Amino acid sequence: MPEKNEKVTMETIVSLCKRRGFVFQSSEIYGGLASCWDYGPLGVELKRNIKDFWWRKVVQERDDMVGIDASIMMHPRVWEASGHVAGFSDPLVECKNCGHRFRSTDINSTTCPDCGGPLTEPRMFNLMFKTFMGPVEDAASVIYLRPETAQAQFVNFDNVQSTTRKKLPFGIAQIGKSFRNEITTGNFIFRTREFEQMEIEYFVKPGTDDQWFDYWVDERMSYYVGLGIKKENLRLRPHEKEELAHYAKCCSDVEYKFPIGWSEIEGIANRGDFDLTQHSKYSGKTLDYFDEEKNERYVPYVIEPSSGVDRTLLAVLVDSYDEDVADGEKRVVLRIKPEIAPIKVAVLPLSRNAKLVPKSKEVHALVRPHFMTQFDDAQSIGRRYRRQDEVGTPLCVTIDFQSLEDNQVTIRERDSMQQVRVPIAELVDALKSKFSF
Ligand code: ATP
Repeated sequence: MPEKNEKVTMETIVSLCKRRGFVFQSSEIYGGLASCWDYGPLGVELKRNIKDFWWRKVVQERDDMVGIDASIMMHPRVWEASGHVAGFSDPLVECKNCGHRFRSTDINSTTCPDCGGPLTEPRMFNLMFKTFMGPVEDAASVIYLRPETAQAQFVNFDNVQSTTRKKLPFGIAQIGKSFRNEITTGNFIFRTREFEQMEIEYFVKPGTDDQWFDYWVDERMSYYVGLGIKKENLRLRPHEKEELAHYAKCCSDVEYKFPIGWSEIEGIANRGDFDLTQHSKYSGKTLDYFDEEKNERYVPYVIEPSSGVDRTLLAVLVDSYDEDVADGEKRVVLRIKPEIAPIKVAVLPLSRNAKLVPKSKEVHALVRPHFMTQFDDAQSIGRRYRRQDEVGTPLCVTIDFQSLEDNQVTIRERDSMQQVRVPIAELVDALKSKFSF
């Protein structure tokens, strides 16, 4: 099996994203800001749909999970307790000639990959962004932008457990921005300094943690298949002992076969009782659980499935990108799972003929409350189908002159390109039947 996804290059995806408004370079008119990206009109829809899908699967459809949305800035002691102040570092080497910096684990040579100059010895570089809270910029006002969302779940363990009365095992889910001052970034939205995470902290009884770890590994692999990603482009990579983070008992990465090779999209770790114990110690507040059945208190263990929104979105784009032939021409088609496609239904009058306008507007008004739609009447109908295929719109509704006579319209499917005619009165139900939610 090839070690890279050779069906599409990263350049093709980057150029599609820019051309069609999925992702733009941040501050582009000022020359851009390294490794920062802005999601455009289609990107924001796709990203929201991915987050909604995750939330649906891990919170809405489960009894044992609740969500939170915590502040990005947290008390600085949080990051001392978590080990991030002392240990969240990467080994950095600097070129003595051109000053460029590299993560020493990313380069194989002892000289600078850019100019061939000599490199310094590696030194540890903390990846947390620091800033100051309030008007005084002194040591006492230093705070950090969170490098992961997870700590808020631990710090709020007692608040959540006592207000929801959840019994073990149960989890707390959160989606939000995280920040890491990565030494080397790149590969588009794969590694950036500001990114979004979807994290679960799942609290279990000590002794049952190995079994719950296995459960979550299976669950998360099926989740990506459910998201529409091809099984053969997913794999699980258990960490070697030396790779494990200071808190982790064991860890496995879910990897996707990107054009840059197999790379992590999610990490699943057994964090033991490290975090709750540390926060208890540093805050002086007890963070444990009273087991009514056993009539005893203990500190739960934690399984953490931690996934990246941006990397998932990139995997979805790469995985769904396809080229085939339609009407004798090359067609680019994003075969995104219909439920997460940015635009669900495009409403397309056959032409701009004035006679078609009222009926087309009427159909659009009928469909719009139910689906994210786009109305497009520019250029030939064939061109407009192609435009929708290229951004993954699963269904197009076409209004033609016959529609004015018989009150029927055509639904055209992205993948099969098949067309069926339905009465306008049944249109919304017919469209809904094509989506599982
Ligand atoms: P890597 O080894 O690639 O640096 P990591 O092991 O440090 O990643 P985790 O701390 O496990 O990553 O974070 C969980 C998830 O958050 C990752 O699987 C990834 O999807 C996402 N993530 C982490 N760092 C970044 C980043 N710099 N840019 C984009 N997404 C990221």
